[in-house]
Amino acid sequence: MRNRLGIYFHVPFCKQACTYCDFHFSTQLNKVSELMEAIELELEWHIKTQDCQPLRSVYFGGGTPSVVDPKYLSGFVQTLDKSLGWSGDPEITMEVNPDDVNPTIIKEWKAIGVNRFSMGVQSFDDHVLRWMNRAHGAQEADRAIKSLQDAGLPNITMDIIYGHGMNNDLSWEADIEKFISYQTPHLSAYALTIEEKTALSHMAEKEKYIPMEDDQVVAQFLYLHQRLTEMGMDHYELSNYAFPGHQSQHNSSYWKGLPFWGVGPSAHGYDGHQRRKMNIANNALYVKGWLNGGEEAYEWEALSNIQMSNEFWMTGMRTAKGVNLEEWKNKFHLELPKNFDAIIEKWKSNQYLSLQENTLSCTPSGWMVMDAILSDLFLTETNY
Ligand code: SF4
Repeated sequence: MRNRLGIYFHVPFCKQACTYCDFHFSTQLNKVSELMEAIELELEWHIKTQDCQPLRSVYFGGGTPSVVDPKYLSGFVQTLDKSLGWSGDPEITMEVNPDDVNPTIIKEWKAIGVNRFSMGVQSFDDHVLRWMNRAHGAQEADRAIKSLQDAGLPNITMDIIYGHGMNNDLSWEADIEKFISYQTPHLSAYALTIEEKTALSHMAEKEKYIPMEDDQVVAQFLYLHQRLTEMGMDHYELSNYAFPGHQSQHNSSYWKGLPFWGVGPSAHGYDGHQRRKMNIANNALYVKGWLNGGEEAYEWEALSNIQMSNEFWMTGMRTAKGVNLEEWKNKFHLELPKNFDAIIEKWKSNQYLSLQENTLSCTPSGWMVMDAILSDLFLTETNY
């Protein structure tokens, strides 16, 4: 059976910069048209030169795809329609911000075939949203969610942020209850981290932002975990919860190591074997690169067997399924780290790790220390 393909489009525009965000985006909305034309060139290059398969998923991310005229996204989907075709019932996801959602534009998104919406809600507290420099308030999120539902598009996931110094446990619990009240099938919840060169990192340097204590961040995560799992949602990946049948098909393919194309500035792709494609994270150079044939707009990275194995661990341990040691061995033919048994015993005795039927996975508390677990498990040229 042929592989099926996923495509990620990075739409690198936002109305304004959120306090904490280090994604690649620009607020120069007057450059949308030239950038979208370059994305179309890159898409055509993929179709001409790469292994083409029917599409299982398309994901418009960013940035904020909902700030651009839907005609651009429609054009990309039409190109895909003509050249690749679709496999079964493909998932077409679009990230939207609440302030862009209205009944007219919803009709246009629906006509394109978008059938899953990822809404950047982040918080239901106006005070927190202002601090985050979000372009919307809580009421707009409420209106946007209900507008999509009223339009017969209930397949909505929300992004929500916890573990930040502007939240306390009561406001976090209120956010969770608000999310539950909408009866949407999926949630992505992220603990706030301070990324370099963001407004938040400057605030932290000047002590204008005091991060939440680690113990409280863990407690907020565990509360979320308990509340959502007791409602029947699966915690299927580190940051993701879904009711059965509503896991993100597109993101799951990253975690399963399936091939995907990454189109647009800063996007990454993977050929399904041992090569990763990385696009330049600069809009002007990306446009210039694609006007000149594309070679300056991306580079390939060949992955060693050890790098591939480490990626397998990293993506596998992020999922509830975990990593099956037999599967890993058959795939990579490598030896486990020399002190593997001691590593496992250490994390098991702390109740961060479980080993059942030859499969390692994180316990709920273990999710919060996964980076440390992985750094013990990663192979290097010398530890195996
Ligand atoms: S809207 Fe999203 S991508 Fe844009 S700055 Fe805010 S968090 Fe970052």
